[in-house]
Amino acid sequence: MQTSKTIGVLALQGAVTEHIAALEAAGVRGRAVKRKEELEDLSGLILPGGESTAIGKLMERYGFVPALRVFAARRPVFGTCAGMVLLAQNGPLGLMDIKVRRNAFGRQRESFEADLQVKDWPAPYPAVFIRAPYIESAGRSVEVLAQVDGHPVLARQKNLLVSSFHPELTGDARLTAYFIGMTEQVSC
Ligand code: GLN
Repeated sequence: MQTSKTIGVLALQGAVTEHIAALEAAGVRGRAVKRKEELEDLSGLILPGGESTAIGKLMERYGFVPALRVFAARRPVFGTCAGMVLLAQNGPLGLMDIKVRRNAFGRQRESFEADLQVKDWPAPYPAVFIRAPYIESAGRSVEVLAQVDGHPVLARQKNLLVSSFHPELTGDARLTAYFIGMTEQVSC
């Protein structure tokens, strides 16, 4: 796939370069976004894993909170791990109708891999969880796409996608490709 599409990765803290590599491997341009002005010409944005408290503070400091509310009104946003926390109703952006619990899998399972059954996907998806959150409750407009132990870990609400895990850390490009597909459905 060759395209001029550019998808941004919020680059205040966290797993930025891995997401950019995953986007480029999937055939689109990936760009680290450090200033809100750099959101302008993007087809979509990934909020990476990292430390949600640190990223949230930096987002406030650099004016990203109002800018991302405007951005997410029209374009796709994918929050992975800490990014899920940022998008949640009980997180700093409050954009998605989910309540999340941080570090929800506890000390016994700080980091783990799980083969997920993703809705409508024929083969299991290998997912890497690192001090991951999960969704405690979700509104009616949220579609749960995968669960671990009965807890939602992948969900979508219109143009917003969230995963508890790190899709950029495995060789399986299906979820990155799914998000790129979302940028094709939403006009901008
Ligand atoms: N536990 C982190 C937080 O709540 C998220 C961890 C991660 O992104 N891998 O910010």
